[in-house]
Amino acid sequence: MVTSRTAYYEALRELALSKRTEFDVKTAGFGLREARQIYRAEAITIDRRPLPSCLKAIYMCDEVDVSVAIRIGLPMEPTLFALVHELKHHWADQELVRAGYVTCGDYNQNELVEKGAEVFAAEFIYPVAEFSDDIKSLGDGKWDVDKIIRFKREVCRAKVSYTFVRKRLERLGLVSRDQFDGVKFQKREEEIYGTPLYKQRWFRDRRRARTS
Ligand SMILES: [Zn+2]
Repeated sequence: MVTSRTAYYEALRELALSKRTEFDVKTAGFGLREARQIYRAEAITIDRRPLPSCLKAIYMCDEVDVSVAIRIGLPMEPTLFALVHELKHHWADQELVRAGYVTCGDYNQNELVEKGAEVFAAEFIYPVAEFSDDIKSLGDGKWDVDKIIRFKREVCRAKVSYTFVRKRLERLGLVSRDQFDGVKFQKREEEIYGTPLYKQRWFRDRRRARTS
């Protein structure tokens, strides 16, 4: 089972890389607009709507229509990740979906198919090879909270979350699974780099004045 699981993930990574080539995806230039272009090319409708908290997105298809429902209110990086996760179902699982499979956070039932979609999305958005190259610029020292923040702020080319970076480092054996439990990366980032513009009071006031 371990071997076939590894082979399944490997095949999905290869699929991700070949789809990147097909759609001319460049890591630094891949965001929501580019993801939407792929959806348009594949004739998939995006339907933003409220969804239960266990669900970020759902892939649906019948003989005529293909659509993805995506939860309203997700931040940009998780939205992008979810959109690419659903592309894996589109390219690799259509038969399953037509046979009644429903994508959800129910990992017990659909664990392999779902984890495969996570593997696909991660490789599509930020290939392991590029990531491994990029982290070299920060040296061999051990990875702590501040180094992760520095990486995300100064080195990382992809639009990914702290969770993404943490999981990738974990996969590469550079950090341990529970090493950053309870760490608030965003808060620490603000301590180091200052409050982002859009959260600053004068900026909010100005925007409010403009729109009122
Ligand atoms: Zn899924």
